[in-house]
Amino acid sequence: MKEALWWETQEDGRILCTLCPRYCKIGADQAGFCYIRKNINGKLYSLGYGKSTGFAIDPIEKKPLNHFLPGTGILSFGTAGCNLGCRFCQNWSISKAKLDDAQSLTATPEEVVQLALRHNVPSIAFTYNDPVIWGEFVIDISRVARECGLKSVMVTAGYITPEARSEVYRYIDAANVDLKGFTERFYHKLTFSHLDPVLDTLKWLKNETDVWFEITNLMIPGENDDQEETKQMCEWILENLGDSIPLHFTAFHPDFKMTDKPKTPASTLTGARRIALSIGIKYCYVGNVFDDEGQTTYCPACGRILIRRSWHDLLEYNLSADHCPCGQQIPGYFRMPRKTTPRRGRSMLQLH
Ligand code: SF4
Repeated sequence: MKEALWWETQEDGRILCTLCPRYCKIGADQAGFCYIRKNINGKLYSLGYGKSTGFAIDPIEKKPLNHFLPGTGILSFGTAGCNLGCRFCQNWSISKAKLDDAQSLTATPEEVVQLALRHNVPSIAFTYNDPVIWGEFVIDISRVARECGLKSVMVTAGYITPEARSEVYRYIDAANVDLKGFTERFYHKLTFSHLDPVLDTLKWLKNETDVWFEITNLMIPGENDDQEETKQMCEWILENLGDSIPLHFTAFHPDFKMTDKPKTPASTLTGARRIALSIGIKYCYVGNVFDDEGQTTYCPACGRILIRRSWHDLLEYNLSADHCPCGQQIPGYFRMPRKTTPRRGRSMLQLH
């Protein structure tokens, strides 16, 4: 078992976990809200260290990242548990599982990196559940990955404390951050967390790191799809993060404790994209629906198609390094995609 980082003992003997803004106070033999950080004999342990609920090679567009190594595969895995309590979780069989239930595999950081190298992918994603809660494992894998020339990606809700984030992100190259809504009501009522720490993480990523990041907003009918809310969110992004952070509006499907809502209509996503573009966000995409226009990267200077996608497939690629043929630089991390990556389902990859 791996002793955790980011905790202190309180006067009453309980442990205060300082990894995420939930700041759980954890009594003897208890675990925190995320299930996988436990007080054992007065020390906090990371039960998720060295555990995986299965490995897959995903298209990097599935994370989603559209401006980071487009067209490549990415070794993807998660552990169990989560530090948020989203009633609409789209991945709840993992995020709501305890490690014992999740039939996890044991893997060292070196083995994870070797697996990526063996499958000839240039990057590893910490995903499926929120990697913040297994930050110690993230640090060790991403350090070894960097030594071996691989990139590391966080797929996260951005719910992490200032005390922990600079360490967790030390060797991280890219992230997709869920901005789940733009009201405290939504965060509090439907995710059991708060909006401000997520906004703070986004500003920190922009202002104090070199991490490439994109933002995803999962749109739920009647909960966070109000056009005025979308407008306010886009204005905040523009003002605080600039016009070049790619923004993805993605469709919700009824799941977990929110089965009473319909799927997100494609028109909602198209409308949100239109709002974002009209406000001045240069790269805006839609996801989880078929919409070739909404998944294509256009040059903001000349309007040319730079990367044409259909769902997660690349159909056309016209970038030269990170430039449009007209000379306009496109923000991100690009290199010419190679057709090497088979599409595989989760847990089809064997560790050894
Ligand atoms: S990481 Fe887990 S144990 Fe720590 S504060 Fe967050 S939910 Fe609680």
